[in-house]
Amino acid sequence: MTLTVDRHTVPSPASGLVCRSCGAQFPLGAQHACLECWGPLEIGYDTAALARVTHDEIAAGPQSIWRYAGLLPVGQNAATRVESSTGMTPLIRADRLADELGFTAPVYIKDDSANPTHSFKDRVVSVAITAARELGFRRIACASTGNLANSVAAHAARIGMPSIVFVPSDLESAKITQTSVYGGTLVGIEGSYDDVNRLCSELGETEEFEDTGFVNVNIRPYYAEGSKTLGFEVAEQLGWRLPGQYVAPMASGSMLTKINKAFKELVAAGLVPSSAWTVFGAQSAGCSPIATAFDAGTSEVIPVRPTGIAKSLNIGNPADGPYALDAVRASGGAMAAVNDDEIRDGIRLLARTTGVFAETAGGVTVAVLKKLVEQGRIDTSVETVVYNTGDGLKTIDAVSAAPTVTIKPTLKGMREAGLL
Ligand SMILES: *Cc1c(COP(=O)(O)O)cnc(C)c1O
Ligand SMILES: [Zn+2]
Repeated sequence: MTLTVDRHTVPSPASGLVCRSCGAQFPLGAQHACLECWGPLEIGYDTAALARVTHDEIAAGPQSIWRYAGLLPVGQNAATRVESSTGMTPLIRADRLADELGFTAPVYIKDDSANPTHSFKDRVVSVAITAARELGFRRIACASTGNLANSVAAHAARIGMPSIVFVPSDLESAKITQTSVYGGTLVGIEGSYDDVNRLCSELGETEEFEDTGFVNVNIRPYYAEGSKTLGFEVAEQLGWRLPGQYVAPMASGSMLTKINKAFKELVAAGLVPSSAWTVFGAQSAGCSPIATAFDAGTSEVIPVRPTGIAKSLNIGNPADGPYALDAVRASGGAMAAVNDDEIRDGIRLLARTTGVFAETAGGVTVAVLKKLVEQGRIDTSVETVVYNTGDGLKTIDAVSAAPTVTIKPTLKGMREAGLL
């Protein structure tokens, strides 16, 4: 008999759960709120363990987010990971976009529409469902604005775990269809995402849902760590260094915050040279509680009732809003919000200059980039990474269009249309 040794089987570098509000520490497990102050918990690491991770070890890993297992709380043992080939998405140098906006430094699009279910959510779900399995949950669930629903249903299907997904019933039809096709139970709720989220928190307390891991509720500390891989990959793709600026969309504010955390951990682990970076946050005018607090100079995020076409970002009461504000302010960055027409223009601007078709969230991010340039609030001489988090085919109605012209299949038809 041959003994196969998994060279990636190293102990988890995670050391416990840490309260982001008061700093109290708790053992790792399915807990998301501090027992001292009810503040949100996040994963704490043994910094010595992070510092042992090497570039070579990462390069020898799979072409997926699991190459960074040494920097994540779960998945060190390849046998327990949920591998969905998520991550290692293209970092596209967008020279034509940079020119059009007047950048003298390179602008890159990190294109997360290239993930298996066509949004960045595959990153957080891969980590969360791996954690759910390790923690002994039998069923997986989520409250979603659409993309999370797609990803949870797909990952559950991959490993044959039952899933139950809760969404606002007025979601884009592509996101409803994409979720239901993977199987599992899809529950449409007559209400906003914030209503859905409240219901899921209540369900998590019931006996019937004891065996259920809600990826973004009771196992949220694990889920959130998946977003760090958006930071790790950009650093690796730039040749193990950090960009000078990044622009990211915000729903709960978690992703933007965790990219920042990833950059800090890379510096602390000695995997990139220490350098300064500036963080920019993007929201839609129909749901801009975080950007509004930024403009008001406060850290109090006042909940709103979301409207507008950027449904994947429509969280009116964003859990990580204060932390996103901290990350942006501490870096000397800025936030802005754009209306539905600007979002459509942002989708078209990205598409016609780079060949990338983004969903409305990507339209928000590109439109905010443009606005920040126009307002002189972003430095166009600094290398900038722009995160496109979802695929345009998911929100096709936002920019639905017909052919430029329809003609008979003849040269005469071409002539009549002025094309010949
Ligand atoms: C969920 C989501 C985000 C950001 O979500 P956070 O809650 O801020 O982490 C960004 N873009 C898309 C397309 C999403 O689905
Ligand atoms: Zn606390």
